Amino acid sequence: MNILLVYPQYPDTFWSFKHALKFVSKKAVNPPLGLITVASLLPKYWQKKLIDLNIESLKTKDILWADYVFISAMNVQSKSVIEIIDKCNSLNKKIVAGGPLFTENPDTFPKVDHFVLNEAEITLPEFLDDLINRKPKRVYQSEKFADLRTSPLPDYSLVKISKYNTLNLQYTRGCPFNCEFCDITALLGHKVRAKSTGQIINELDAIYKTGWQKNIFFVDDNFIGDKKVLKNELLPAIIEWMESRNHPFTFSTEASINLSDDDELMDLMTKAGFSTVFIGIETTEEASLSECGKSQNKNRNLVQSVLNIQKKGLEVLGGFILGFDNDSPSIFQKQIDFIQETGIISAMVGLLNAPKKTMLYKRLKDEGRIITKSLCTGSA
Ligand code: SF4
Repeated sequence: MNILLVYPQYPDTFWSFKHALKFVSKKAVNPPLGLITVASLLPKYWQKKLIDLNIESLKTKDILWADYVFISAMNVQSKSVIEIIDKCNSLNKKIVAGGPLFTENPDTFPKVDHFVLNEAEITLPEFLDDLINRKPKRVYQSEKFADLRTSPLPDYSLVKISKYNTLNLQYTRGCPFNCEFCDITALLGHKVRAKSTGQIINELDAIYKTGWQKNIFFVDDNFIGDKKVLKNELLPAIIEWMESRNHPFTFSTEASINLSDDDELMDLMTKAGFSTVFIGIETTEEASLSECGKSQNKNRNLVQSVLNIQKKGLEVLGGFILGFDNDSPSIFQKQIDFIQETGIISAMVGLLNAPKKTMLYKRLKDEGRIITKSLCTGSA
């Protein structure tokens, strides 16, 4: 089998960093970690090729080479997804689709041949068995969550690493919190599921062997979801690994604001090489934090929390949301003042969206307030 793994293009959003990337002569921020993990779940003797539309174009000859085209996408990539599907359909090529966009909205894509939804570690083997027996179904889904200790080493050999600003890996999935606008917990659960320390060290080894010597992004929904294992096992192991190789990487990740309450954890993170952390601050309005259930941000001095993290040597990227029911017209100035006061350099300010699986979507639907489709997902 020849399998073409296609990652759709991002529009011009905060996360695409389209304009900033020109300054560092890179084409995209991160390679598609989901697809290179899927590649490792496929039989070893199949041929695989990765096309990331954020760094290159999708050529007809690549589609014709493939027996199947695999697409993975988030909601924000919808426009590019539709173009890829049309192109594959016009060339009569079968499509296998997975990832959050398709898991949330399979009915929106009638021209996809097979859906491998939820977590690929669970649903992809079933599809492959049926495919090998020439009886593939249209939809594979599961309500179970994968044991990440069975997740394979992503196939970094498929990645054109010089085109990216950052390489990525994943330690955990799931988040113990319950923010109303976030679909992470609906898709990946509240229980934090982690890879073993040995798996992460193997992934660092694999990246190191590619010759990469820059930033690595831990793409976890909330890196500090299980602090005990982090402090006792993973971070000490990373510190040792980094010291024995003369600190080849810096790390970034996403975490909840309660990171600022744990000096020991922050010290271990900076010692391990973490330099940047994305934090979902969302809003300075206490009533809006209550509205969205962001309990970990409530009843605290958010400015001081950010300053605590910065003082430990971690740059804070901040996520902010406008559009809560409790926001008053003064919210714009309040957000600007907060960003200035904390010195947050990269502030991602977005409008409140309600992805389909969220509690917010359900509430707004019950209130008759859903008027169009959402394009964003939230995290940390
Ligand atoms: S927004 Fe962040 S903290 Fe809240 S549920 Fe989602 S991942 Fe967890």
